[in-house]
Amino acid sequence: AFGIQIVGGGLAGSEAAWQLAEAGVKVRLSEMRGGGDMTPAHETDRLAEMVCSNSFRSDDAENNAVGLLHQEMRALGSLIMRAADKHKVPAGSALAVDREAFAAEVTAAIGGHPNITVVRERIDVLPDHPTIIATGPLTGSALAEAIAKETGSDALAFFDAIAPIVHRDSIDMSVCWMAARWDKGGKDYINCPMTKEQYDAFVAALNAGEKTEFKEWEKDTPYFEGCMPIEVMAARGVETLRYGPMKGVGLDDPKTGRWPYACVQLRQDNALGTLWNMVGFQTKLKHGEQVRIFRTIPGLENAEFARLGGIHRNSFIRSPELLDGQLRLKSKPNIRFAGQITGCEGYVESAAVGILAARFAAAEREGHTLPPPPVETALGALLNHITGGADAETYQPMNVNFGLMPPLTGPKTKKADRKKLYTERARVALGEWLTSAELEPA
Ligand code: FAD
Repeated sequence: AFGIQIVGGGLAGSEAAWQLAEAGVKVRLSEMRGGGDMTPAHETDRLAEMVCSNSFRSDDAENNAVGLLHQEMRALGSLIMRAADKHKVPAGSALAVDREAFAAEVTAAIGGHPNITVVRERIDVLPDHPTIIATGPLTGSALAEAIAKETGSDALAFFDAIAPIVHRDSIDMSVCWMAARWDKGGKDYINCPMTKEQYDAFVAALNAGEKTEFKEWEKDTPYFEGCMPIEVMAARGVETLRYGPMKGVGLDDPKTGRWPYACVQLRQDNALGTLWNMVGFQTKLKHGEQVRIFRTIPGLENAEFARLGGIHRNSFIRSPELLDGQLRLKSKPNIRFAGQITGCEGYVESAAVGILAARFAAAEREGHTLPPPPVETALGALLNHITGGADAETYQPMNVNFGLMPPLTGPKTKKADRKKLYTERARVALGEWLTSAELEPA
């Protein structure tokens, strides 16, 4: 007999199992690797296997949002952070680990916990008992179909087609202006105008820019006409982008009173208005190339990117619409989701959402509701983004960043100081939450 089933023993599922077990809940952890199934990216049957880089990114909790998230996870007794700290390898201010020792540590801790039973089995249906689904970006296809059936097939994506997202306060509004095409529907877009010379140089840079290759098992990535990479459009002909996402028609530049030759548009991406996505700019250009080339766009010379573009195989649900604030599926509330399948991005974020799903589920079993962490914290900002803060229609996976938090109030400060103000505010908010929710810091 078990209290809660967890499907998927990756970063999120392992963390969730640990958190529940430590709270005294009996857990059945179902992991298909080691039971005759594999994903295209994993190589072992260990729990919490890191499929690509061995880095948990910056460990700087003063100046970096993911470093702050590390700190908050440690305060909640994270197994993933404990194992990472124990097996860290030198990597400057980043937290990188010996991946084998790290996964072996997590596997042993989970396997040895008296409240956890690890079962090597593939799950193909959504169970009717309390369950956390943490099957990740490469969710088994039968389960993915079951999720699509429950949520509506357009609510489960199999690929991300990510357009870059820019921090609003890094856009030069003396160059750009706000308007919608043909003045329809308010002044909802930020418009970056381009002359013919600028546009021609931009198209040439896209054509010359270095691209990331698809992995063998990603080669069947479908290019829907609506989300074709910009460099593929650029390669079709010099005018293609000007008739596509870089159309200037219907956009009166207040400085000239005329339509620009070409124009890049940005659309608000979160309810706070701090993040803006570059409309139609999904791309497989290498990250460094994106920064270099997109900073040639007028108004984006100093752009800071909350996320760069990409296209990968990645199953994730349209969480802002489907999940409630406790990570429960609204249509079937015995099911919670955790990890990358919720549309967070990255090892750390996935494990963090695993902590939250488990803490919410543990409280629910005790007959009460754990209030969500404040949106000023990294945990709360991530949760808010997933469960309602992001635009459901354009929802794409995202790493934690300061743009997911409410903007700072008070006098304008230098950029370097702003990061410290965000993290100081977060620490105070986390402390208050831990106290009010009667959660013991680890
Ligand atoms: P996972 O860690 O993938 O765990 C999901 C688990 O569920 C797996 O063990 C899988 O075997 C199991 N499973 C799936 N379906 C079923 C089923 N039906 N029944 C039972 N078990 C099932 N993030 C980074 O931070 N850095 C990177 O460098 C990075 N590189 C990546 C490269 C690739 C190719 C991919 C696909 C992703 C990469 N990511 C990276 C994202 C990374 O996958 C996630 O950040 C993280 O592993 C997600 O954690 P998770 O627990 O949600 O999923």
